[in-house]
Amino acid sequence: MPKVLIADDAAFIRMKLKKVLEELGLEVVEAANGAEAVQKFHEHNPALVLLDITMPEMDGLNALKSIMEANSSARVVMVSALGQESVVMQALQLGARDFVVKPFQPDQIKQVVQRWLTNGS
Ligand SMILES: [Mg+2]
Repeated sequence: MPKVLIADDAAFIRMKLKKVLEELGLEVVEAANGAEAVQKFHEHNPALVLLDITMPEMDGLNALKSIMEANSSARVVMVSALGQESVVMQALQLGARDFVVKPFQPDQIKQVVQRWLTNGS
């Protein structure tokens, strides 16, 4: 079963994401900051990463850079707060596939996850 890495410093966001992903039958790996996200990416080689932008230790943009350097075909979707459009644009230029803006609805997460898990590249 495909593994999805969710990285967010807010435990309640991770919990919401995890619930949606488990409903889709996916295996979930969690990270609470950017550095942990990079470490878990290497450990688990997830099929998809959902990456928060504002996190301690290492922010989502730097975590994305590190992940894309390690694997240029990594599939990363940014989960951003309102008002982070310029960072989202940078993330897309760095190789992020897509983005979801918080607060999200479960269906938005389902759609984006299904899209990028089934899309060849
Ligand atoms: Mg955050």
